[in-house]
Amino acid sequence: MAIWNLGSINIDMVYALPHMPQPGETLAATSFEQGLGGKGANMSVAAARAGAHACHIGAIGPEGKWCVDRLTEYGVDTRHIAQIDTATGHAIIAVDPAGENQIILYPGANRVLSEDQIGQALSAANAGDILLIQNETNMQAEAAEMGRKLGLRVAYAAAPFDADAVQAVLPFMDLLFLNEVEAAQLEEATGKAPHDLDVQDVIVTLGAKGARHFDGRSGDVTDIPALKVTPVDTTGAGDTFTGYVLAALDRGLPMAQAMAQASRAGALMVTRHGAADVIPDLKEVQNAKF
Ligand code: ATP
Repeated sequence: MAIWNLGSINIDMVYALPHMPQPGETLAATSFEQGLGGKGANMSVAAARAGAHACHIGAIGPEGKWCVDRLTEYGVDTRHIAQIDTATGHAIIAVDPAGENQIILYPGANRVLSEDQIGQALSAANAGDILLIQNETNMQAEAAEMGRKLGLRVAYAAAPFDADAVQAVLPFMDLLFLNEVEAAQLEEATGKAPHDLDVQDVIVTLGAKGARHFDGRSGDVTDIPALKVTPVDTTGAGDTFTGYVLAALDRGLPMAQAMAQASRAGALMVTRHGAADVIPDLKEVQNAKF
């Protein structure tokens, strides 16, 4: 089985500054770090590190080849990442001494994917595979509809939240991931709470409070507690959790077990600085002592 992830690939450029720049000010950064990021890339890496065959569908520009190389190193199948003439998606992240940040996000190549590219990639998928979608690319609804027609299990992480995108994907969705804020935004946009949606499985992650599963068939609600850790950076915790849940479901594990494993991965992730580059592998997750 495989996880087909239509997702963003970003270059995260992190600048430490003595203070946030004022309009018109030129300010020298005291340090600079570059890493692989983007919700899509994070989720592909998490799924691959959790042992799944993760096939990323996306695009980069001419300067993004190293991102593809790094995804390959982490075990992601990168054959369906196109190289195009638009700049690679990137985030310019300014961090002040108090840890406050300011982010300029340029979606670039992530938002010019074509239906043809997605169709070609999914023509290699098998019924029962998982198709994963988030909101940092274009073509969400088209891909979801294609996935449903091909008999794939369509999973959607509704982040960053976009009411129109969610409504368009909703009819084709089997599994929905939301954090607490997104769940509230969805309820405001649709008038429906997670348990009222016509979706087979809805998972709401609640940070240090754990995660909750709503079973659309039985109506059962299951809480998976979080593990006790001292967080240093919560970036990528949700993406890691999503990748781990899907990898476990793809291996045939029941939902409660899949979520318990994902919650260990999420807890480890918040103890590390960084995004895709620090996502733990399955061995680390299984052996971690909490
Ligand atoms: P982000 O946008 O920062 O990647 P998110 O808001 O999408 O994250 P969260 O709900 O914060 O997602 O976290 C996902 C999962 O990671 C949680 O359900 C939990 O299992 C684990 N987790 C997150 N924060 C903590 C924490 N402080 N302690 C232990 N586990 C945590």
